[in-house]
Amino acid sequence: MTEHTLAPAGLRRQAGIAAAVLGAAFVVIAALTTPWQPLPARAPQVTPDPARDFTAEQLARSQAFDAATSVPSYLSFGLTILFAGLLAATPMGAKLLGRLRGPWWVRVILGVVVLTALVELLRWPLGMWFEVRLRDFGLSTQDWAGWSGDRLKSIGVRIVLLAIMVVALAGLARRFRRWWIPAAGGAAVLTIVASFVYPVVFEPLFNDFRPMAAGQLRTDLLAMAERDGVPVEDVLVADASRRTTALNAYVSGFGATRRIVVYDTLLKAPAPEVELVVAHELGHAKNGDVLNGTLLGALGAAFGAAALFAIFPWVRRRVRVGTIAEPVAVGAVMGLMSLATVLSGPAQNVISRHVEARADAHSLDLTRDPATFVAMQKRLASTNISDLSPDLAEYILYASHPTAPQRIAMARSWALLNGVPEP
Ligand SMILES: [Zn+2]
Repeated sequence: MTEHTLAPAGLRRQAGIAAAVLGAAFVVIAALTTPWQPLPARAPQVTPDPARDFTAEQLARSQAFDAATSVPSYLSFGLTILFAGLLAATPMGAKLLGRLRGPWWVRVILGVVVLTALVELLRWPLGMWFEVRLRDFGLSTQDWAGWSGDRLKSIGVRIVLLAIMVVALAGLARRFRRWWIPAAGGAAVLTIVASFVYPVVFEPLFNDFRPMAAGQLRTDLLAMAERDGVPVEDVLVADASRRTTALNAYVSGFGATRRIVVYDTLLKAPAPEVELVVAHELGHAKNGDVLNGTLLGALGAAFGAAALFAIFPWVRRRVRVGTIAEPVAVGAVMGLMSLATVLSGPAQNVISRHVEARADAHSLDLTRDPATFVAMQKRLASTNISDLSPDLAEYILYASHPTAPQRIAMARSWALLNGVPEP
C-alpha cells in the first residue's frame, strides 16, 4: 500500500505543472475580475482625512480600542502561525498522532479533533482577553456562557469541515496514484457546496433570522431592490444584539440560498441610512460577488490540492511521515492548509477591499445620496469603534473593507463627479 502511494518524480512533475497552470489561472482571473477602479477614472480624487469627519475624542477612542485589542489579536495570530509551522515542518504532529489506534479513517478524524482542540485550548485565554476588551468598550453584550457556546460551535463547525476534507484526501491517496486529480476536483466542489449551503446550514447555528417586519422600511427596501433590478423576496433580520452592539449587514449564499441580512442593531439607525446599507448589499447581489468569490476560492482549492501533491515529498522527510495516506500525516496536512490560509489572507483582503468599494459606488449610484452615505459611515465607524487609521501591517492583515475615511472620501469623489453637493 505505501509504495503504491509514494509519488515518483514524473507524477510529481505533472502535479507541479498543473499547480502552476491553476495558480496562473487564479492570478489572471482575479486580476481581470477585481474592480480595480470602482469610480470612473475622470472622478476627482479626494484624499481621505480622518480629522475632517471625526472628532478628536472619536479618534482617541479608536486608537485606544486598537491599542487594547492589538496585543491579544497579534498573539493569537502568532500562535496560529507557530502551531501550523511546527505541524508542517517538524515531527510534532506525527509524534502526537502516532499513539492513536483504530481503523485509518477513525485515526484521521481523531487526529483532526486532537490537533484542533490543542491549538484552540492555547488560543482560548487570548480569546477571553479580547472579549474582556470588547466588554470594556461596550461592544459585547454576551456573558461567558454565550461566548463559550459560540466559540465551541465555531470550533465544531471547523472540525467537521476539516475532517471531511482530510478523510477524503487520505481516502483518495490510499486509492489513486494521481490522487491530486480527484482531490483538486473534490476540493473545488466542496468549496462551492459549502458556500451554497452556508446560509441555511451553518448561519442558523449562531443566529435566529426572521423576515423584516412589514412596514414602511421593508416596503421601501423591496421597492429599491425592484428599482435596482435585483430580485429580493425578503430582507432578513439577525438577532445579533444578543452578541454585540456593532452594526452590520451582509449578503451570503447564491442562487436559491442567497439572502440579504441586516443586524437587528442596525434597525435603530435612521431609515435612510439603513437603505444605504441595503443599497450596498444590493451591489454585492447584483454583481454576484458571493458566487464570484466562491468560484475563485474553488480554483484556489484545486490549486492547493495539486500543490500539496507536488511539495509533499519535501515535507514528508521533515515531518517523518511515509505518505500522505497515513493517518499520522494529518498534522502536516493541517499545518500546510493553515499556513496557506494565513498567507492568502492579504491577497483576499486586496480583492475584498475593491469589491467593497464597488458595492459602495453602487449604493451611491442607486440612492444618489452621498450626504446620507457619509452620515452612515460615521455612525458605523463610531458605533463599531473602527480603526480610522490602521497601520500598514493591520491594513494588510485584517482590512477586508476600505477604512471609513477612505469610504467617505470616495463618496465625496462620487459627488464631485455627479454634480451633487459635496457632503
Ligand atoms: Zn460589503
